[in-house]
Amino acid sequence: MELQQKAKIISDALEVLFGVPTRDGTGDVLESLILTILSQNTTDVSRDKGYAVLKERFPTWEDVLHADVKAIEAAIRVVGLGEQKSNTIKNFLTWLQAEHGELSLEFMHNMETEEALEFLCQHKGIGIKTASVTLSFACGREVFPVDTHILRISKRLGLIPPNCSAEKAHQLLPPIVPEGKAYPFHINLIYFGRQICDARKPLCERCSLTQHCLYFKDNLQA
Ligand code: SF4
Repeated sequence: MELQQKAKIISDALEVLFGVPTRDGTGDVLESLILTILSQNTTDVSRDKGYAVLKERFPTWEDVLHADVKAIEAAIRVVGLGEQKSNTIKNFLTWLQAEHGELSLEFMHNMETEEALEFLCQHKGIGIKTASVTLSFACGREVFPVDTHILRISKRLGLIPPNCSAEKAHQLLPPIVPEGKAYPFHINLIYFGRQICDARKPLCERCSLTQHCLYFKDNLQA
């Protein structure tokens, strides 16, 4: 079976299970980027707590820009990797102010998707996943961010090779994602990873995708 066909079957099955998630794609782009930086390697709950403390201590992006990086690190301590993330945020805001004269990324709505991805990825600490999430959630673009759930499930289902890196998966998966389904497929795979295809204990007995799953064939099929 062609990978595109297989991805469509999986996408359709997940929509039966979880519905079709929608987005408005009009969020504040800079806020979305900072939230995504904070969310690296942590939970949504911790990310939101860290963001709330950051905004409480530094209500505007100008305040964050002029704050000591150690103070930013202290504010976002709950999210983990505080030193790395605070440096990424501070460096990005410093660059943005110097290059564009204001702390806003709303101009990205007018950029081509590939150009916008390159624009964000040129900065240390901002990788393809962070850039893709920002463009998907805040700009409504047809991009496909690959998080840890999506990487694991795509390997188990044979959409990408077993040793594929997250970086490589960002190249291999978008061409096989059903047209117009990048956002709902992304969200539904995350739901699926959290609720059924768990990293350590996948609930294969509850899964409707067993016939398409290499992991199931190799490990569980009688
Ligand atoms: S059969 Fe098991 S491992 Fe395969 S996709 Fe379903 S839950 Fe995941």
